[in-house]
Amino acid sequence: MLTAKPKPKRRCPDCTEALLETDYRQVRIDICPHCQGVWLDRGELEQIVEQALFGVMPRAHPRPSRRSTPEG
Ligand SMILES: [Zn+2]
Repeated sequence: MLTAKPKPKRRCPDCTEALLETDYRQVRIDICPHCQGVWLDRGELEQIVEQALFGVMPRAHPRPSRRSTPEG
């Protein structure tokens, strides 16, 4: 009985170490535990860049405008 095999693990092009899949900002990337290389599929870099640029909005800290108004 044939079962669907998971796709074979990729290996680092540099040191041929098996790559570890991990998620970075919901984008699946491959990291080499040996040489710390990070390998991206086509389009993944764009996804990460887009999320870095647009996904994380710089949180504006509204300054509490508590102006002490002189009473009276
Ligand atoms: Zn490597």
